[in-house]
Amino acid sequence: MTSSRDLAGLPLDVPPATAKKFDKLGIRRRFDLILHMPLRYEDETHLYPIAALPYGQPVLVEGEVIAQEVQYRPRRQLVVQLEDRSGTLVLRFLNFYPSQLKQLAKGQRIRALGEVKRGFFGDEMIHPKCRTVVEGEPLAGSFTPVYPTVNGLTQPVLRRQIANELKRQLLDETLPHGVRESLGLVTFQEAVNTLHAPPPNYSMRQLEDPLLPAWQRLKFDELLAQQLSMRLAYRARRMGIAPRLHGTGVLAEKLTACLPFALTGAQQRVLEEIRADLAHPHPMHRLLQGDVGSGKTIVAAYSALTAIEAGFQVALMAPTEILAEQHYLKLSGWLEPIGVPVIWLSGSMRKKAKTEAIAAIATTPCALVVGTHALFQDDVTFLKLGLSIVDEQHRFGVGQRLALKDKGQEPHQLMMSATPIPRTLAMSFYADLDVSVIDELPPGRTPIVTKLINSARRDEVVAYVDKTCREGRQVYWVCPLIEESETLQLQTAVDTHLQLGEELSQWGIGLVHGRMKPDEKAAIMKAFAANELQVLVATTVIEVGVDVPNASLMVIEHAERMGLAQLHQLRGRVGRGEAKSQCVLLFETPLSELAKARLKVIYENTDGFEIARQDLMIRGPGEFLGARQSGVPMLRFANLEEDIELLEQARELAPRMLERDQQAADAHLERWLAGREQFLKA
Ligand code: ADP
Ligand code: MG
Repeated sequence: MTSSRDLAGLPLDVPPATAKKFDKLGIRRRFDLILHMPLRYEDETHLYPIAALPYGQPVLVEGEVIAQEVQYRPRRQLVVQLEDRSGTLVLRFLNFYPSQLKQLAKGQRIRALGEVKRGFFGDEMIHPKCRTVVEGEPLAGSFTPVYPTVNGLTQPVLRRQIANELKRQLLDETLPHGVRESLGLVTFQEAVNTLHAPPPNYSMRQLEDPLLPAWQRLKFDELLAQQLSMRLAYRARRMGIAPRLHGTGVLAEKLTACLPFALTGAQQRVLEEIRADLAHPHPMHRLLQGDVGSGKTIVAAYSALTAIEAGFQVALMAPTEILAEQHYLKLSGWLEPIGVPVIWLSGSMRKKAKTEAIAAIATTPCALVVGTHALFQDDVTFLKLGLSIVDEQHRFGVGQRLALKDKGQEPHQLMMSATPIPRTLAMSFYADLDVSVIDELPPGRTPIVTKLINSARRDEVVAYVDKTCREGRQVYWVCPLIEESETLQLQTAVDTHLQLGEELSQWGIGLVHGRMKPDEKAAIMKAFAANELQVLVATTVIEVGVDVPNASLMVIEHAERMGLAQLHQLRGRVGRGEAKSQCVLLFETPLSELAKARLKVIYENTDGFEIARQDLMIRGPGEFLGARQSGVPMLRFANLEEDIELLEQARELAPRMLERDQQAADAHLERWLAGREQFLKA
């Protein structure tokens, strides 16, 4: 006998044109039909007498057409009178085919399914689903599933295909023996049968309840597949070969001697986690998370020193030119005095400088190379790369991260991010990474006070900017995000710069935006860092990583247009020195509900983790996943917020299953993720 496992991967048994439509629904293999679940159900198990029809729910009636009329007012429509023993009902069709005139001719016996509305001339159904029947025709034994579909693929066709497939396949268990029972889950077979062909004793409400055992089983299986594939990806990485990087500690000691501050306990702890990984002969894939301003850069510097002490080069990559430049200045300030060469490479360098940098990368041992994605262009070859560090990793696509990995032998990877991953996501979509968290800010930070101010009071804010400058502090002024047009956004920034220049003429006002030449940008940033400019007008280019401790005020225009992560990142640019810092969020009324919710969250919270958690609740995980989204299959059935318990159970089972019952694990993955696992290895 053929097992369902052999059948699962078979292509659909339909003509190519139909297959194309199924493909749009994500149904490619026969097994995909089994996993195509109803959106809702229709009740054709029960006939209601016309005289006693409930409102507000679809109901089935049966009767004889006693009149048919095509009316032309107010527009062409078909009006049919249906009669049963108890009364009469109007069926109204605002568009109709000639075939319907025949189907609904006087004297025909019809079953109509639809919602009853109180019409002008009594009760009526608009566009009911009608079927010709003979008297006494049996009713459906169970609720009728209604599936998600696409144009040209009717419910009956879908239903037939799915029902056939249910009959044809032996839906054997993929869970190891005893697991299902101990978790209190129904069998897979029972689950899919219940959902596709509900037994008569189920109510509509039960079937649509996410706590229904059948749904729970599907959710669990889906989460388990995700956990298994994440584990496998993780294991595959651990099989890779990377150089063991044992630092001597000599350079680290020198750096510590020069550094004006000591590492926090959290920084020390994550550094030890990183060093332990680097000493292993397998590539590290570690995500270093820390809220904005938590001091990830110095951790990166010490990690780099470990690799350099071991005789290797290190690459550090940032997503924007400004950020990369800041890193370069900072890191060369720390490392060059202790004799470590730091090389700068960016896409915008002049040809000669670039050629020199590329030559240096190919020949300078034990160097730190800092740059943008220019670092993984084809013409860049590292002499001996041991560690690559990617800052703000969520800004890079999966492909870009891969590219750096492919340079030379497999280096260790450290990814840094200030966007905290909420716990449920960390447990699911990021389960293939090791994570270190800096959960403590350096001492002496003053909490940032956030103010929400209606933009009608802009004058007062400008006066406050002036006051801040007089106190010797500096100010960021962030121009609104204009999604529709980059040109418009640029124009707004230029206008704001001019206007503030007039309003605050005694102060130096700079402007940075995305369209400036990198060296112009760098010059402005340098002048601002040196307090030659007191106010920096910027588009959101300063969102990540810019560090000027003397800046104590941030004004954000049209804050209501920005996302939470973005607002939190921007706000984190201040509060980095001893001065009391403030963030003024200017908003324009009226506010949408979403904007209100966001502003409330950012106003009430300073903890990045809490903000991210609330962000996840407001937006759902899809958008949050950003770059990950491109490759990682999304969850169809499970919901990370609701199904946390199932997620935990799946997470516990996955490693055991891979260890003790590889076959079952393979079968389970084949069922749920066939052909999609390779994305997870990115
Ligand atoms: P982020 O984690 O956002 O990248 P940075 O690495 O830019 O943060 O650090 C923010 C600021 O805090 C920098 O000016 C950095 O030099 C400083 N800093 C980092 N660690 C400490 C520490 N342990 N004590 C005092 N200041 C620190
Ligand atoms: Mg940073």
